[in-house]
Amino acid sequence: MTEIESNKSKAQIHNIRAAKTVSETVKSTLGPMGMDKLMLDGGGNVIVTNDGATILRELDVSHPGGKMIVEVAKTQESLCYDGTTSTVILAGQLLANSETLFERGLHPNVICRGYHEATQMAIKYLESDISLKNEGRETLLSVAKTAITGKTLENALDEVAELCVAAVERTGDADNVKVVSFPGGSLADSTLYSGCIINKDYVLHSEEGYDEIVLVNTGLEEEKSEDNVQVQIDVKSFQSYKASGKNTLIDKAKHLVAALPNGGVVFTRDAVNDFVCAHLKKHNIMVARRVPESALRSLSRATGAMIYQTPDEVVESTHAGVVREKRNDVWYLFVQNDYDSKEATLILRGATSHTLDEVERGFDDALGVVSLVLNNGEVVVGGGNAYARMASHLRQHAALVGGRAQMAIEAFADALEIIPSTIAENAGHDPLDTILAMRHEILQGNREVGPNVNEGGVIDMRVLGVYEPTELIKQAVLSASEVTNSILRIDDIIARRPNQ
Ligand code: ADP
Ligand code: MG
Repeated sequence: MTEIESNKSKAQIHNIRAAKTVSETVKSTLGPMGMDKLMLDGGGNVIVTNDGATILRELDVSHPGGKMIVEVAKTQESLCYDGTTSTVILAGQLLANSETLFERGLHPNVICRGYHEATQMAIKYLESDISLKNEGRETLLSVAKTAITGKTLENALDEVAELCVAAVERTGDADNVKVVSFPGGSLADSTLYSGCIINKDYVLHSEEGYDEIVLVNTGLEEEKSEDNVQVQIDVKSFQSYKASGKNTLIDKAKHLVAALPNGGVVFTRDAVNDFVCAHLKKHNIMVARRVPESALRSLSRATGAMIYQTPDEVVESTHAGVVREKRNDVWYLFVQNDYDSKEATLILRGATSHTLDEVERGFDDALGVVSLVLNNGEVVVGGGNAYARMASHLRQHAALVGGRAQMAIEAFADALEIIPSTIAENAGHDPLDTILAMRHEILQGNREVGPNVNEGGVIDMRVLGVYEPTELIKQAVLSASEVTNSILRIDDIIARRPNQ
């Protein structure tokens, strides 16, 4: 057995290869000139996307090493919304470089230690030296634009960035922004609606809108009788039995009528019997039933209306405009008032549902990064600049660590440069020349350079206004290095007994 073989077990080689294959799959989508992938499933359904997380989610990965990489993309998406492709490519390159280190005789534990050390040094430098302050609205707009460059959304870059920033500024957090898409029209027709849009089953009464609403967290229907209870009654008592059930419901409905003397809309989470609806109709009350609890909560946050647990508890209504509109054969209710709400809905317009799905994914990324910057503050210039600067820093300081671990730190530095080099490569420029030019400029003191995707060479990223949240870069480096370490530590794959 050679020294190399003794150092890297079969499991390690297989895991590294599988992880590298996954990362190769998404590599060509990175950056503003990244290409899209068309994904087809057995049923003939098509997804066209540029989003790393979506590609990986839909990819049929069976190898455990590959699966770990897919997991890391999910983590990045849930924490930072964006930067998934970068994380996966970085992890792939860290693993590829560790293969070379194996061949030079380094033990996996030494590599892990070196990578860990490098991560700490890189993050510290990122936070203390590379990170810049958020300068306000302009920075937020740049961050939104950077997230959507290279995606379908780019066609309406300014409008989209403006919408995303406005939405996050109003709500304070990307999670409070709902996105609904209506096919038809063009992207630039998309708007921000400061209210709620509901498309649930409702009983229609009037063509005009309503001005009062009530939210109820249950419904108005007969209670289900117990199973397997047998009762013998004659026809007359059966009729009175039925009537008494009806009367109880009508009694309950009286609370609604009292709360809405001039009519309005009642949103209920459960069903409402048709005869109750008919009764309410006489009082000009419309019922939107089977509204999901999450939508009820959105309605409450958007309008300030209280959610009553049962119809009996209803005391008063809330003033809010309700308007019905038909979009592509589906009726929607638009609910809005002048309450200072922390809820907003982005209405996206686009030609087809395929483009709209991709537009929605792009919006999610952009909303997410804007909210990261709004809440955490700091940014860095994009184009892989932060990765290149962390790499220069690590190279200068690797020798301080000493021993074999410094080889791993140098390998880590080389791996970081895969981000700017891939951005340049995907734009049709020479990756090596770009990296060398970036290293040179950074040492010369032009510290904000990145790949010039249009003309080749390098350019100051501040001139182009390419900014990203510091948090996104930090998380990408942390997750990529963590998954690399866990893959390197596995020296055997053993089949488990299936669950009994
Ligand atoms: P990810 O899934 O990692 O976010 P993207 O395909 O969205 O992948 O690419 C993001 C990368 O592209 C970031 O590093 C970002 O800084 C870079 N980028 C965006 N716009 C530009 C630009 N105009 N010039 C150079 N790099 C850019
Ligand atoms: Mg992105």
